[in-house]
Amino acid sequence: MGQTSTQLNYHRRREAKRKYVQKLKAETPCADCGQKYHFSVMDLDHVRGRKRYSIGKLVASNLSLKYLLEELENCEVVCSNCHRIRTFSRKVWMTRENHPKRIRNTNARSDIIELERMMDSSA
Ligand SMILES: [Zn+2]
Repeated sequence: MGQTSTQLNYHRRREAKRKYVQKLKAETPCADCGQKYHFSVMDLDHVRGRKRYSIGKLVASNLSLKYLLEELENCEVVCSNCHRIRTFSRKVWMTRENHPKRIRNTNARSDIIELERMMDSSA
């Protein structure tokens, strides 16, 4: 049994989306450190607007290219090192902003300030 033209179109479209995202990752310098790396080292970090679908899902699914391009507009390309630091910083921020009482009962608040200072001076 051969593939139907619908299945073929679906596979072609998915392949085209995958290559498009790989090219974008390979050609865009990291938004934080400015370095370019192999696409496998680059991540797409959602920074603006509401996230409807992940890039991975948009590439793999049969959803239109329009949705992928809209989501990419809301993302920044960052290398995985910088992405980890971003994620870590957000967790620290969330902890401090959303649980001030809990933080005040521990040394965590001063630890966070110390960590932020260390991160700033190593940047
Ligand atoms: Zn980076």
